[in-house]
Amino acid sequence: MRTLLLICGMIILSFFIKDAVKENKSYNINEVRIEQPSLKQEKEKTKSETKPNPEPKKKVVYLRGLGKFTPSDLEEFKGYIKELYNYDVVILDPVQTKSQMYTPDGRSLEVSECIFSLNNYDKTTIYITDENLVTEDLEVRGGTYLNCKTVIIESGNYNKDTVLHELGHTLGLEHCDNPKCLMAIYNDEHITNDFCDECKKKLKQ
Ligand SMILES: [Zn+2]
Ligand SMILES: [Zn+2]
Repeated sequence: MRTLLLICGMIILSFFIKDAVKENKSYNINEVRIEQPSLKQEKEKTKSETKPNPEPKKKVVYLRGLGKFTPSDLEEFKGYIKELYNYDVVILDPVQTKSQMYTPDGRSLEVSECIFSLNNYDKTTIYITDENLVTEDLEVRGGTYLNCKTVIIESGNYNKDTVLHELGHTLGLEHCDNPKCLMAIYNDEHITNDFCDECKKKLKQ
């Protein structure tokens, strides 16, 4: 797997919508822009992190509980990530939620607020929570930004699909029109747990 490349400082928000078809609703993908570290900074960071080791370094993904979470879920996610992406997965200490991460009524975690508050742009980190996750009042299973390294996931019945899909976004994949593809915005009817040929091609570029 090639390393993650930030092609520009601006990214498009994309979400994996929960139960969209079941509820027979159509959703728009919201566009939000946030600042990311510049490509130059990223390159410098990569350079300084590279050790003189002839073996290609395996990518590391970090998992952390966020707010209320179930520790055994983290082990479940670890297995899925290793299976499909073959990354090293490290479980770190959980993170407490802050009031600014929640919707005004305090009932749900808002994906973009969590990502801003966590302010973690260095490592690919997946935060897993049992709390209700929303964006713009829509129920979501997970969320991130295109090429962003922070992913927030609400643990539930579709953990495998969700984590593999969201990691696809961290690698620069957008939503895919092929309903059998992991990057389809909704693919519960056609679960294959794999990318379509087009998306695989994009990953190799
Ligand atoms: Zn998505
Ligand atoms: Zn695809």
